[in-house]
Amino acid sequence: MEWIDIRSDTVTRPTPAMWDAMSSAEVGDDVYGEDPTVNRLQKEAAVRMGKEGALFVPSGTMGNIAAILAHCQRGDEIIIGDRAHTYIFEAGGTAALGGIHPRVVPNEPDGTIQPEAIVGAIRSEDAHFPESRLVCLENTHNLCGGTPIDVAYTEQVAEIAHSAGLKLHIDGARIFNAAVALNVKSADLVREADSVTFCLSKGLCAPVGSVICGDEDFIRRAHRMRKQLGGGMRQAGVIAAAGLVALDQMIDRLAEDHRKAKELAVELTKIDWLVLENAAPATNMIFFRLAEQTPITENELVQGLRSHRIRIGHPRVGRFRIVTHYWVDDSALESILTAFQSLAA
Ligand SMILES: *Cc1c(COP(=O)(O)O)cnc(C)c1O
Repeated sequence: MEWIDIRSDTVTRPTPAMWDAMSSAEVGDDVYGEDPTVNRLQKEAAVRMGKEGALFVPSGTMGNIAAILAHCQRGDEIIIGDRAHTYIFEAGGTAALGGIHPRVVPNEPDGTIQPEAIVGAIRSEDAHFPESRLVCLENTHNLCGGTPIDVAYTEQVAEIAHSAGLKLHIDGARIFNAAVALNVKSADLVREADSVTFCLSKGLCAPVGSVICGDEDFIRRAHRMRKQLGGGMRQAGVIAAAGLVALDQMIDRLAEDHRKAKELAVELTKIDWLVLENAAPATNMIFFRLAEQTPITENELVQGLRSHRIRIGHPRVGRFRIVTHYWVDDSALESILTAFQSLAA
């Protein structure tokens, strides 16, 4: 029996249509700008995001770091949430590589940052201070339950940033999950943002790759940063081909993953030794912990599920994560539920 892997949507393998596209991709040397498939992907991504330009990068992490380096000089400051992926999970790259100072403000449980906190974090003109250059948002917000951030809030933050001379970057690793959940166009979610990064390699199932979008001048700078970071790729059309399939075929169906997360959450809520953080998940993630009166330990839960060939996310003591995706079908959903119900029976 195959493993059911619900640790993350990053575990998704390419679809058959992607393997076909990859095996017949037209390629060239992308460092010379001559890979037609990469060029098509970049054009398509820019259109989807309503931006002038786009740049294919190997990972979401490189996308965020290259984008932030393109916006900021050494000693500049970015305003970022304390639960942001870029702040927590990107190895301090913007500080290590760009000398960029993070001004960390609290994320609310829904992944937003209070507008007053952003306003309060913007520095005045004073030689004692770093220069505030950029606000960073994340959509959907991973650690805050995969919550989608709506258009009105994003535009409010853009207005705050722009009126103080700052830019807005969106880590939109799962921006299409947000667009589908909110029933809006992805371009609307980033209309007022100066840049956005999104991942092809998560719920969209492409094997590798992310894209940065923004205006032409910004993309030119991000392109140089990508080169500095060692992210210039050669016949990258092989993987960009899967990215094109991802954009064409895999976005609308994210609603299926959201439905599956909702259905699973409803059933898990009935298990009295589980406490869900988001009993009504908005996208494809469920977070939970064990109840105080629990018949099993965290380790027993992980091992028990493994004995049913299920891998669950256990990012830290006291917190579990389930992520639904293309390769978790309805019968896998049944198996997951059966496994949970049998564990403490
Ligand atoms: C996965 C993720 C990234 C980084 O993507 P990688 O391709 O894993 O480097 C950035 N931001 C968020 C919110 C993510 O979930």
